[in-house]
Amino acid sequence: MKVERYLGCLLFFLIVGCNEHKTKKVNTESVNSQLEIKDTVVVVKKKQFKALKSLAGYADTTFVRLADYSAGFAYDMRYATENNFLKSKVYDCAECYTRVKTAKALIAANTEFIQKGYKIKFYDCYRPNSVQYKMWEIVPNPQYVANPVKGSIHNKGGAVDITLVTLDGVELDMGTDFDFFGKRAYHDNMDLPQQILDNRKVLKETMEKHGFWSIRTEWWHYNLATASNDRIANFKWDCLDE
Ligand SMILES: [Zn+2]
Repeated sequence: MKVERYLGCLLFFLIVGCNEHKTKKVNTESVNSQLEIKDTVVVVKKKQFKALKSLAGYADTTFVRLADYSAGFAYDMRYATENNFLKSKVYDCAECYTRVKTAKALIAANTEFIQKGYKIKFYDCYRPNSVQYKMWEIVPNPQYVANPVKGSIHNKGGAVDITLVTLDGVELDMGTDFDFFGKRAYHDNMDLPQQILDNRKVLKETMEKHGFWSIRTEWWHYNLATASNDRIANFKWDCLDE
């Protein structure tokens, strides 16, 4: 009898133990899948990358890597280097992600720029909310960095920091470097050489035509008008091998 009771207890323990393990696993899986549906991100592995993909069929709010859908852009992702106003590298690697609707508008604007002999060069695109916190830690001043609690349109995948380059990659003179904080960078500063005003005008007018609006104090920053109500995102891109 004692042996039978002992075996009974052992069997009971094994069943309960197994069930507990199983339940924990299911819970973990459901938490992970909840995280996954937060932001839909399409990642095309560079090693498998053969031809440029089409954006047709994706939801407007899906995140994509712009270079997978157009070869027409230039990039100088400053926050993946120390060549920025923070003097600090806050991205592990240089990538330009945006939501699909932002990517579509950028590609349309760039098609028009290319007809004029220019193309868009990116300084910054989507910025994970965790990186916004990192930047706020370095410069906790809302004049220069958006408060991460409220977030920036960059965190929503709807803002880009850009300039124009010729098709050979030569930068147009916009009067200041990217992230120059001062009157010389203001859109309403007309006290600048005509060539600089003309360069800013072609950038602004074309971007506005394709659904972007600017902010008065930064000639390089453009927000997609329909991005204001999108959610702040925090996915971090993988640094894939070439
Ligand atoms: Zn910006």
